[in-house]
Amino acid sequence: MIKKEYTKDDLTVVWEPGLCIHSGACFRSLPSVFKPLERPWIQLDNAEKEAIIKTVEGCPSHALSIKQKAAQNIPPFQPPPTGERNPPSGSPRGGEKLPPPAPPRGREIPPPVPP
Ligand code: SF4
Repeated sequence: MIKKEYTKDDLTVVWEPGLCIHSGACFRSLPSVFKPLERPWIQLDNAEKEAIIKTVEGCPSHALSIKQKAAQNIPPFQPPPTGERNPPSGSPRGGEKLPPPAPPRGREIPPPVPP
């Protein structure tokens, strides 16, 4: 399906012509931005972001939508690996004894002194 994108700063409006039912709701709501007789027909420079978003949300066929800006440099959550310390018995490491955990590092507590 054809999608056309119109971007200004961090706002991207997507228009899917195959979904448009030509109701005219967009250009009646915000004629300074939605101009069907001009090219490009969506001109985001001519209104505030909030007004554009409100008009896009009013599109009855959802031919208009807002494209969310992708999160930047945030790695997806990685759950810790499971089964590392206790592999199933059929695995290559099955039955292998794992070493006890190392004692905490830091100040050593001296043994008690006899009276
Ligand atoms: S409001 Fe949506 S369906 Fe109506 S003309 Fe605009 S884009 Fe097309």
